[in-house]
Amino acid sequence: REEYCSRIQEAIQAIGFQGEFLDYSRYGSGHINDTFLIRFKESDGHIEKYILQRMNHEIFKKPEELMKNICNVTSFLRDKIEKNSGDVKRETMNVVYTKDGSPYFRDSIGSYWRAYLFIGDAVSFDRVENVKDFYESAVSFGHFQNLLADYDAGSLYETIPDFHNTPVRFETFKTAVAADLLGRAAEVQTEIHFLLERAEEMKVCMDLLKAGELPLRVTHNDTKLNNILIDNSTGKGICVIDLDTVMPGLSIFDYGDSIRFGANTAAEDETDLSKVSLDLNLFEIYTKGFLEGCNGSLTEKEVEMLPMGAKLMTLECGMRFLTDYLQGDTYFRIHREGHNLDRCRTQLKLVEDMEQKWNEMSRITGKYR
Ligand code: ADP
Ligand code: MG
Ligand code: MG
Repeated sequence: REEYCSRIQEAIQAIGFQGEFLDYSRYGSGHINDTFLIRFKESDGHIEKYILQRMNHEIFKKPEELMKNICNVTSFLRDKIEKNSGDVKRETMNVVYTKDGSPYFRDSIGSYWRAYLFIGDAVSFDRVENVKDFYESAVSFGHFQNLLADYDAGSLYETIPDFHNTPVRFETFKTAVAADLLGRAAEVQTEIHFLLERAEEMKVCMDLLKAGELPLRVTHNDTKLNNILIDNSTGKGICVIDLDTVMPGLSIFDYGDSIRFGANTAAEDETDLSKVSLDLNLFEIYTKGFLEGCNGSLTEKEVEMLPMGAKLMTLECGMRFLTDYLQGDTYFRIHREGHNLDRCRTQLKLVEDMEQKWNEMSRITGKYR
């Protein structure tokens, strides 16, 4: 722990903060990076806050490329926001560079650190407590999509290669079934067949991308509620944060993943499958917010494919849980025997429910196009 403190001090020394260092404390409830709030006193006496993070080098192997993505995207956003006469310090993340001009600092034991301006008078929520916040997150992620609609997505690095490349995930799954390392395949034949029966669908979106029928977009890839900040006074989403997974991808996958975890009537690891279903009310609220935020920047094909985005993200996620179960639970942390299998089953149940509700889903996405 003492070791850790001195690393923080090292980072604070290296990064170009203004004023006199006061203190630091753990901040927020993120699971990926170690996040601190640090305070500085400026010469005029006012106190300035910053976010300091020790980046997760385990998950993100190339912090340099990741920070290039973040710097490029946020500086593009800053220009846009300025043109719209917005508040560039609150409506986008702002990286604080090191004294020698780098967007990150590598400490003496090899950890990577970075800092952002702190966005005050705003909160992020870990769970949906009222639907208004869910709606606000949809507007924010849609707006993010809109602001970046003319960004050259192909110029971004893939911080996690093939993250939502469903056909590649499908190949990995089939390999895991064939290898059957722990002899678990026999007991999960129903789930395996469920996925194999949908082999054609797994390819649909990536094929449309290849054919140029869906555009490559800047995607966020971690569109959780707690990755937007909600303004304390207006209750509106003001800033999309947590840009580690910003990558080239499909807009309908950002949307779809939000539906997958936000519009499920049950928890991701619920064992009573009768509780799992798609909440069409939440589905509609998110769809409305997202398309309002996008403000016409999605193509007609993208809007048409929104339900498929939701279904594919759910199918892919279920497939990843099953793959991990077959491989011996090495990727997703488990808290009980069969946890990944339980998670897989909720996702597949949700896919089934979406298939039942397909016409309703399409009617709703069509309504807000
Ligand atoms: P993780 O990848 O671990 O989720 P985040 O980048 O989301 O890390 O940061 C964790 C938490 O810190 C966020 O949920 C948010 O509450 C807070 N946070 C991050 N950046 C800022 C910022 N610039 N201003 C205010 N709060 C922030
Ligand atoms: Mg986060
Ligand atoms: Mg994150």
